[in-house]
Amino acid sequence: MAEEETKREPREVDTGVIPAEFREGGGLRTMTATVVSAKAPCSCGICTKSKIKAKRLHIELKPTNQPKWKNQNEWFGLSDADDSAFFALVERLRKIGVACPAGKNIGEVIAAMGEAEWAEEEKIGRTQSAVWMPQRLL
Ligand SMILES: [Zn+2]
Repeated sequence: MAEEETKREPREVDTGVIPAEFREGGGLRTMTATVVSAKAPCSCGICTKSKIKAKRLHIELKPTNQPKWKNQNEWFGLSDADDSAFFALVERLRKIGVACPAGKNIGEVIAAMGEAEWAEEEKIGRTQSAVWMPQRLL
């Protein structure tokens, strides 16, 4: 799907340079980033054109410690299931100290969270591929 492609930006490896993110334990990446936008549901151009019609949270992140990286995008299907990636995200935000009061829009919460450390993680909710997840506020 198109979203997967936008998450994998061309980077140093394209010129044969061994990227810093090639470290022991796998190729999952980390970054510090600010939130460019977070909307749930989102009606941006990418979301509107997507073949995925389920309503989703779309987060766009601007890396602050990876000057060569383009902005990173992540999507979470809006779900009230406790085994969903969306549930895992809210749980994580609360764990790192971001207030997520019931009744508040998650997009507004994330848009206001400021700079944070983010890392790609696998097996978030029912998602098998790597997902950008917040690690700690800066
Ligand atoms: Zn969008």
